[in-house]
Amino acid sequence: MQIGGTARFVTEVHSAEDVRTIVTNSRKEGVPFYILGGGSNVIAPDGRYNGIVIRNCIMGYEEIAEDKDTVTVKLGAGEVWDDFVKRVTRENLIGVEALSAIPGTCGAAPVQNIGAYGQEISDTLTELEAFDTQTDEIVTLSNDDCKFRYRNSIFRTEEQGRYIILTITMRLYKGSPMPPFYSVLENHLKEKNITEYTATNIREAVIEIRANRLPNPAEKPNAGSFFKNSMVDKWLVDDLLQKYPDMPHFDMGGRIYKVPTGWLIEQCGLKGKLLHGIRVNPANALVLINESARGYSDLAQAREAISKAVSEKFHIHIEQEPLELA
Ligand code: NAP
Repeated sequence: MQIGGTARFVTEVHSAEDVRTIVTNSRKEGVPFYILGGGSNVIAPDGRYNGIVIRNCIMGYEEIAEDKDTVTVKLGAGEVWDDFVKRVTRENLIGVEALSAIPGTCGAAPVQNIGAYGQEISDTLTELEAFDTQTDEIVTLSNDDCKFRYRNSIFRTEEQGRYIILTITMRLYKGSPMPPFYSVLENHLKEKNITEYTATNIREAVIEIRANRLPNPAEKPNAGSFFKNSMVDKWLVDDLLQKYPDMPHFDMGGRIYKVPTGWLIEQCGLKGKLLHGIRVNPANALVLINESARGYSDLAQAREAISKAVSEKFHIHIEQEPLELA
């Protein structure tokens, strides 16, 4: 978001051995460290981070297994996520085509269980390798071990900071994407008269839809969705529907409904507004763009104003999605 200060040290890791060396030395010197992937989904406070920012640059792409229905690929955590998606969709493999054009690295993708248009990385990730900073060993974590849930995993909750992801293993499928698709995707395909569903067609459609809704961070500083979608108890949803019958809501099971936070912000009249130098994206109120903020405190004030407006109107507490360097 082009906000935040500097770091005392910045370094890159290119192998598991590099990771071991950095972790051991930083522990010996009593210096904290923070692992960065692409950096587009992290917010840094003003001032100096008094530690080591480590860029994960572990590369590698290897097909490790194939059978009549699937191909399994192992990737270095520093590989660019969208390069991987592009490569496998070109090979007509399916499973990640709806996750096209998401910025960041392969190692960062499982942390928040990236998802879009009905697909999540947890649908295709079989396992990952990580350096465990508690035991200094390289461990293999299965899909189950990662405890994936909606935009979440152990890596940003109970085990935050413990594991440094080194590789991910993805099982992709031979065949064609099958409808039904998210309505926004379905409508786009209809408009373009696309009736043959291939991995490439879906990827191209997703790229076009995203280009209109999600501004390119290189041009308009933003961290993608700034807020998570809201998980709301059924009783409150029922209550709100009395007053707002058009409120979109999606059943997540267990008497919990997902309510798009972008819609809530829009209903508060904030879509397109400039708050403390932060623009609420006119195309999608979930995204905040740094237009003229003077620093982290401006962003914090804008976040506070938006959260307060939503909470007062809907009694829903909205949560920030990007992680913070701390
Ligand atoms: P959108 O298309 O305006 O959709 C608004 C909301 O409606 C989304 O939150 C979406 O949920 C939900 N939705 C729409 N159709 C649905 C269906 N058939 N079943 C269940 N939920 C449905 O959303 P957007 O903000 O422009 O984002 C587009 C896509 O990119 C979304 O899927 C979004 O999650 C994804 N995205 C993901 C990340 C991330 O992984 N951190 C960041 C930015 C955007 P879902 O969000 O659950 O799909």
